[in-house]
Amino acid sequence: MNILVINCGSSSLKFQLINSDTEAVLAKGLCERIGIDGRLVYQPAGKEKEITEAAMPTHKEAIQMVLDALMNAKTGVIKSLDEVGAVGHRVVHGGEKFASSTVITAEVMKAVEECNDLAPLHNPANIIGIEACKALMPNTPMVAVFDTAFHQTMPEEAYIYGIPYKYYEQYKVRRYGFHGTSHSFVSKRTAEYLGKPLESLKTIVCHLGNGSSICAVNGGKSVDTSMGLTPLEGVMMGTRSGNIDPAIMEFIAKKENLDIDAIMNILNKESGVYGVSGLSSDFRDLENAAEEGNAKAKLAREAFCYQVAKIVGGYAAAMNGVDAIVFTAGVGENDGIVRKEVCKYLGYLGVQYDEASSSVRGKEATLSTSDSKVKVLLIPTNEELAIARETLLLVTK
Ligand code: ADP
Repeated sequence: MNILVINCGSSSLKFQLINSDTEAVLAKGLCERIGIDGRLVYQPAGKEKEITEAAMPTHKEAIQMVLDALMNAKTGVIKSLDEVGAVGHRVVHGGEKFASSTVITAEVMKAVEECNDLAPLHNPANIIGIEACKALMPNTPMVAVFDTAFHQTMPEEAYIYGIPYKYYEQYKVRRYGFHGTSHSFVSKRTAEYLGKPLESLKTIVCHLGNGSSICAVNGGKSVDTSMGLTPLEGVMMGTRSGNIDPAIMEFIAKKENLDIDAIMNILNKESGVYGVSGLSSDFRDLENAAEEGNAKAKLAREAFCYQVAKIVGGYAAAMNGVDAIVFTAGVGENDGIVRKEVCKYLGYLGVQYDEASSSVRGKEATLSTSDSKVKVLLIPTNEELAIARETLLLVTK
């Protein structure tokens, strides 16, 4: 069966068409600037990328263009929409309602909408994407795969914040965690890679990308994760602050005469390694600048690695041990120096990092020495494939 995987943002839409028998990507791409002007990047497997500028007033036109491209006589990969067996949608926030992926029904849509105020930037866009697909493919089964679902196994003491309990009761303010599809995929693959049962493993997954989160996975279940109510918590990221003293918000607001929206904008868009370096959110730029002697770029990278290591250490304590520490996502898969710097702090856990592995990029690999008590691994994530697998499972049930 061919499965269309859709990841809808407020003005963008990423897609992949995956054959679920072979797990091959038949075509992939991205619609950008939806509602502004519109641009489709379409890449059929093994062929050149095509870029088309065309008006996309809403996500519906964007999805129509994607379907037209997939069926194009020359560069398409299917002949008709009948060849799309199901659609898998990434949905950011499933609140406490969704502990697993689900076939989309009217009831599910209502429940997803009820999670909107937990993720006002993301969920409404996800819903628009689902509605647009439903309008164009009314008879195709659709599945919602939630970023938060994998973390619903966290125990209460891990998800409750030290604020009045009534805010949890009234507004569901708690830790939810994100990147769940990635943490689940990578922890499962870790067990396969090590040839050990998932149920027996204590794994810490470091998903380090533009957004970064770390997850403690005990016996295949998420028991803690660094992102919280929103994806702002945890380690400092490309432009997000991660953990700070909450009083800093009031302090800066008073000093600079800013309201809460302006403060949130600073913490989401002007902070993290970008904010510290004043230069870039991209770890490659920071490494280059650090090599040329830029002290703030160096500090941003060092502080990032230190924060990752502190959370890894905390999760080893939370699980009373760790068998494998796994790096994934853009930075984790590519930046050998970040991996090495993080592991430098973890010797006391029994981590022996293999210096020779620092140049490994983008493929499964063992990064620790053969006698290291704790395995350090690189396992590339593949959220689209994970969504396709979940979708197949649910529509063939
Ligand atoms: P997103 O959170 O947007 O999905 P990714 O997981 O794709 O992010 O990670 C993007 C980040 O990965 C970039 O911002 C960049 O800092 C980093 N990155 C990508 N390639 C490399 C590389 N070769 N070396 C170091 N960092 C890299």
